Amino acid sequence: MSKRQERLPIQVDPFRLAEAGRLMDGDILLSQFKRLQPLLVSDQGRVQVELAFGVDPMGVPNLTGRIRVDLQLICQRCLQPMNWKIDNEVALAFVRHEAEEAAVPGPYEPYLVESVPVYLTDIIEDEVLLALPQIPRHPLAECPARNMIQEERPDKVESTAVAEHQAKNPFDVLVKLKTPNKVK
Ligand SMILES: [Zn+2]
Repeated sequence: MSKRQERLPIQVDPFRLAEAGRLMDGDILLSQFKRLQPLLVSDQGRVQVELAFGVDPMGVPNLTGRIRVDLQLICQRCLQPMNWKIDNEVALAFVRHEAEEAAVPGPYEPYLVESVPVYLTDIIEDEVLLALPQIPRHPLAECPARNMIQEERPDKVESTAVAEHQAKNPFDVLVKLKTPNKVK
């Protein structure tokens, strides 16, 4: 029914798109995600996105939709490729100031727009980074390094897991390193 845009725009004003109720579907090449790239075995492939910008009845400018991608990360136990599938719902509320973030109602996650326009790829890349495991590792039973670990220090595995659980997500840092906004 609604008009869907075929080609994804590069730079967007999220607030205007929300007011216009714009819908867009498309693909973004993984090679465009500069922060994500170092974590990947290969940057071949693309992220499929279905995006719906809108303003909800509470007046919250938002972006909902879905992102899908199959990634190959590097297992931090055996350093071999590891498949990681992302198929996630997106629900972001756009805010202009950090102070507004706390007021964002569920189910939205706040998305701070410090200046307009923003790169659409930045918004999507943030979502992908947040959907990565804290530390990429094969399930132990499938990891080529499992025998080595079990023979070496059977008690080591558990304590490492606890430490990792407490560690902050290292990709949080990457989420903050956005491409600087450029005026065309
Ligand atoms: Zn592994």
